[in-house]
Amino acid sequence: MELESMYEQLGISRAVYGFGEAVLRDLRPRFDAIDQTAEYNQAKVIAAMQKNRVNATHFAATTGYGYDDEGRDNLERVYADVFHTEAALVRPQITCGTHALTVALSANLLPGDELLSPVGAPYDTLEEVIGIRESKCSLKEYGVTYAQADLKADGTFDYDAIRAAINGRTKLITIQRSKGYATRPSFSVAQIGQLTAFCKSVKPDVKVMVDNCYGEFVETIEPSDLGADMVVGSLIKNPGGGLAPIGGYICGTRECVERCAYRLSAPGLGQEVGANLGLMPAFYQGLFLSPTVVSGALKGAIFAANVYEKLGFACVPNAAEDRHDIIQAVTLGSREAMVAFCKGIQAAAPVDSYVTPEPWAMPGYDSDVIMAAGAFVQGSSIELSADGPIRPPYAVYFQGGLTWYHAKLGILMSLQKLVEAGLVKLPM
Ligand SMILES: *Cc1c(COP(=O)(O)O)cnc(C)c1O
Repeated sequence: MELESMYEQLGISRAVYGFGEAVLRDLRPRFDAIDQTAEYNQAKVIAAMQKNRVNATHFAATTGYGYDDEGRDNLERVYADVFHTEAALVRPQITCGTHALTVALSANLLPGDELLSPVGAPYDTLEEVIGIRESKCSLKEYGVTYAQADLKADGTFDYDAIRAAINGRTKLITIQRSKGYATRPSFSVAQIGQLTAFCKSVKPDVKVMVDNCYGEFVETIEPSDLGADMVVGSLIKNPGGGLAPIGGYICGTRECVERCAYRLSAPGLGQEVGANLGLMPAFYQGLFLSPTVVSGALKGAIFAANVYEKLGFACVPNAAEDRHDIIQAVTLGSREAMVAFCKGIQAAAPVDSYVTPEPWAMPGYDSDVIMAAGAFVQGSSIELSADGPIRPPYAVYFQGGLTWYHAKLGILMSLQKLVEAGLVKLPM
């Protein structure tokens, strides 16, 4: 068959291809459900663009101060309509997800206030932002304290501990939707909604911010639909659709977002300044493509879990679980297997496919780290990528894929490399 020989040309053996096809046959109903979510979200994005009368003038570049930047202002109205919030801040001047979260936190917490995470430890990079690990300019240095309620052993919310942790100084609650590099489960929007409602029942004036990274468009609703005051994320993940070359967003109440704008630029200037530097076509079109891009990445994650679980490797989420983000962890059990897996992801890339990933001592980590990525946008993790620290249990974190077919090729290629290294035997 022609497709099979095309895969063979790319380096996928008939045995690996056949194994993949057998796994895929059982996944069709789940893929149909993902397509339905994408269809809904596509309509949601188009409706927001139509309502705001998006037209060619919105794609014009501005420079300098960027006063009266109608393209930028309208994009923010579109985002606000997609996330059903009063306001949005969507800017290339927000350099990454950590920056967006930092702006949201530091704008809405004042000296003497307390920040509470009711879902255990936050994402690694936020430790220095908050001051859990000492850093210059941390929230802690500015007199903002931090409290944490850990999840219960089964990964559910510890409501008693959360109630006990909320006090007179608790100003903001931070909820991370995706597990990131932790082993806890990712949360559904419904779970985040319940937690938000609980926190507000204990303290009605508390604000809730959701770190929405990797979660956008995985479901038909977002945490802002269920009471979150702010949802925050990176444009080189889901909502940039692979086209945004930089940027971050904060969608939320007018009160919260206005403070964020004052923090990002300057008090008094706020959203009025910030030239778009010609990035509007990529931001609009990336948002337009995002629902289908996310659906491809989700299919890839589910395919990976089903391939590797059948071969005896533990996967988080497991092969059958519902998805709340696009991250897939596969526990490979050895350094050699991690290297082979990552070599496969790299070899399947449209960019830098000839490069061989090697473990290296990355600053800030206590073990070597391996990373595979062949991306059009550097560091973009909505594009197909895999990485992980080289230490027990030797798990790789796999995410992205701008198209389902590329994600599929990457997973088949990772398996091919494991087979070639003699680390996996395919069932006959
Ligand atoms: C990626 C990520 C961040 C940080 O985003 P960067 O763009 O890497 O700074 C924060 N939280 C979660 C859950 C993430 O996945």
